[in-house]
Amino acid sequence: QSENLDTTVLLLDLEKAYDKPDGVQRGLIAEIISRFEKKGFYLRGMKLMDVKKALGEQHYAEHEGKPFFPGLVKYICSGPVVAMVWEGPNVVASGRQMIGATKPHESAAGTIRGDYALTVGRNLIHGSDAVESAKKEIALWFPEGLSQWKSCQHPWIYE
Ligand code: GDP
Ligand code: MG
Repeated sequence: QSENLDTTVLLLDLEKAYDKPDGVQRGLIAEIISRFEKKGFYLRGMKLMDVKKALGEQHYAEHEGKPFFPGLVKYICSGPVVAMVWEGPNVVASGRQMIGATKPHESAAGTIRGDYALTVGRNLIHGSDAVESAKKEIALWFPEGLSQWKSCQHPWIYE
């Protein structure tokens, strides 16, 4: 990270796509990735993976003890997720804005949850809530490391 760029972890939950055939037909995965790609953020890591219970519990450790915790872990472990690391100026804050509020009915139209989700327990996507938590989550989800490539569009996006 030569420049002053944040990184964030996004988990695109695909369970909805399995539950709802229209989600697959509409190409939801590509649509969501595309928003971050078009914005100009750098994709540093991405993989489709099944989530083991231990990883789900670690990822959501801050929510342990809350009534929705067991259901939340079950949800994140219920199907494969696409785990991604995006990098760019203020990507944590921007990413949270692009994702929308935790409760989809409070998410603005134009956000991912505002456009594609209906209930809090199926809100499609996780985004790190701070640079510090992103660092922890990157270590948790991408112990193998990230890719440090440079885009040919770089000077047209970054001043
Ligand atoms: P986020 O950072 O916007 O994802 O929200 P939080 O960190 O507060 O919560 C993590 C995830 O737990 C949310 O994305 C929801 O999927 C789930 N969650 C949070 N609050 C509730 C709740 O009150 N009920 C249920 N069923 N799930 C919740
Ligand atoms: Mg959170």
